[in-house]
Amino acid sequence: MPYPKLLEPICVSGITLRNRVVMGSMHTGLEDRARDYPRLAEYFRERARGGVGLVVTGGIAPNRSGWVAPFAGKLASRREVARHRLVTAAVHEEGARVCLQVLHTGRYGYHPLIVAPSPLRAPINRFTPRALGVAGIERQLGDFVRTATLAREAGYDGIEVMGSEGYLVNQFLAPRTNRRSDEWGGSREARARFAIEVVRRTRAAVGADFILMFRISGLDLVEEGSTLEDTLWLAGELERAGVSLFDTGIGWHEARVPTIAGVVPRAAFAWVTRRLKAATRVPVVATNRINDPSVAEDLLAAGVADLVSLARPLLADPQWVAKAAAGRADEINTCIACNQSCLDRVFEGRRASCLVNPRAARETELVVAAARTRRRVAVVGAGPAGLAAAVTAAERGHEVTLFEREAEIGGQFRFAREVPGKEEFHETLRYFRVRLARLGVRLRLGSAPGVEELAGQGFDAIVVATGVRPRAPAIPGLDHPSVISYPDLLAGRRDAGRRVAVIGAGGIGFDVATFLTARRATGKEDALGQFAAEWGIDLDIRAPGGLVPPSAPPARRQVWVLQRKPGRPGASLGATTGWIHRHALRQRGVTFLAGVQYRGVDDRGLHLDAQDGPTCLEVDSIVVCAGQESESAFGEALRSRGLPAESIGGARLAAELDAERAIREGTELAARL
Ligand code: NAP
Ligand code: SF4
Repeated sequence: MPYPKLLEPICVSGITLRNRVVMGSMHTGLEDRARDYPRLAEYFRERARGGVGLVVTGGIAPNRSGWVAPFAGKLASRREVARHRLVTAAVHEEGARVCLQVLHTGRYGYHPLIVAPSPLRAPINRFTPRALGVAGIERQLGDFVRTATLAREAGYDGIEVMGSEGYLVNQFLAPRTNRRSDEWGGSREARARFAIEVVRRTRAAVGADFILMFRISGLDLVEEGSTLEDTLWLAGELERAGVSLFDTGIGWHEARVPTIAGVVPRAAFAWVTRRLKAATRVPVVATNRINDPSVAEDLLAAGVADLVSLARPLLADPQWVAKAAAGRADEINTCIACNQSCLDRVFEGRRASCLVNPRAARETELVVAAARTRRRVAVVGAGPAGLAAAVTAAERGHEVTLFEREAEIGGQFRFAREVPGKEEFHETLRYFRVRLARLGVRLRLGSAPGVEELAGQGFDAIVVATGVRPRAPAIPGLDHPSVISYPDLLAGRRDAGRRVAVIGAGGIGFDVATFLTARRATGKEDALGQFAAEWGIDLDIRAPGGLVPPSAPPARRQVWVLQRKPGRPGASLGATTGWIHRHALRQRGVTFLAGVQYRGVDDRGLHLDAQDGPTCLEVDSIVVCAGQESESAFGEALRSRGLPAESIGGARLAAELDAERAIREGTELAARL
């Protein structure tokens, strides 16, 4: 059997989980309104059908003060139970178990009703919390217990108490946020009392045959956070109070250390879970950047954890477990840790989805059903849009031919995967390559058919996914030998010198600056060491919060990143990853210049009007990352010839193109062919 440890059942609180895969809690935006619960139930049903052992819902508040945002999901009364029964029934029908995550945001709630142990505003919130009085603390504890009892009534197999990530329970634990001097603050014991009471009272109310999972903050990654000694002591106390399963939480939301983005090596925080496991007798779940069954299996086999938790990888592929179990792990659509369509969307108050799987959280809306009539479909261009269209059309039973001008599939993804921190993009191309082959798509590499050639082949439908070409801005001297296009640089056709100017500070300008300055790790150990050093992570967690001063590696090159508009360069990057890129590049000494006008390129370098006046950046190389233009002409020519051609992705519109739109448009078009 492949992955024997991963697929081994385990019993928790007398409840058998069919394997060791936990779908970790993640807010989708479907939790907040009663009318979205049928959709939420289908979203979870699909993951349960795909073989997950235990599902944990997104965070649900025990009362209004614990809301994530006004009117967010809460379970505080009998009236709210019925909608949750849809979720529990759907998951149970597919053979999985399900826990409700009880999340009280404390000072992280984005509304004026927030409460906390002490009246300290979080650096990532504009609302200041009201400090809880002793009676208020008792009411909060009562509300946690009420939610757990209602969860049991709704058919959940257990609850997860969100005790990490800097939310209310965690705020009581850390000196950073608990400045009280009464019986709920001060000493370690007093700070831990809230967490212990939540667990003790919940266990007393729900009985023994109910999973009581606690997400413990293994590593706070903030100043005045907990030490390892505090955490291990707390785990023991919580176990005695009634916890039957520990989940590992990594990093508060206000931490300035990445914990799940692509720059984080796979399973980078498993060492935290290993420490926790050694200190407790109840099963322990490892989390963060576990997106591959072999990584998960290795952790379990090495005794690092008893279970693994994945959230985003199950958005990316609901069949993750089933494919692993069937020996088809190479068909897994791997989460690339981009955060672009999941967490970034949630932070914008929008519904989460997934860049590589646009059906995520849209299961009832974007339906890929078997086609009624098998049609002959041509897809022109094997970038993300064309690949998604070809695979989806073939899944529906159409006969698909995919034409690609280059010798390799991937389009813009071929460049992205060369950027340190974006290595996961290789996986998306592996996924498409394998799926194309298994679905019998005729792949014509190195082939760019003309209009008449396509017309002569009698296709029933033509999908035009010819993508984009880099924009060549009208800057005098752009044909100078020092000027390099970003495809030439990233594909290795040209190399840059020691001093480099990057024209354009969008996603690709940042990627290029990273490519030019970051050191590529030589192996797993090196990657973890380099990541920990660069971000100041104390691998021994001796320092409070597990933070030590970062040590930046010497810069490989001197780089300037430029844009014409005033304002912050990189403003278009995602909410959850933009700060990481900006911080990392600054650490490597990259200079950002906004509000410049390009005057020209010559042997001296790049001449500009900067905010302080005219200047010349005396650089060896200039990399142009000035956006893209649509390759739309081919689609237009096909249509004017009367052929049934539809353009998608960059071929339709280059503006604000990203891989998310490309893959979504490819999937949506193929779903209705
Ligand atoms: P982009 O984000 O639109 O950025 C284009 C950059 O070029 C801007 O900084 C723009 O700034 C500059 N520019 C535009 N026209 C110019 C001209 N005529 N002369 C000089 N400069 C010009 O495009 P991109 O960087 O090519 O990225 C393409 C898409 O992929 C975007 O949607 C992007 O979000 C996505 N992407 C995202 C990521 C990520 O990390 N999330 C990474 C890569 C790509 P000024 O006009 O102010 O000079
Ligand atoms: Fe993973 Fe990106 Fe999909 Fe989020 S959007 S689940 S990070 S691939």
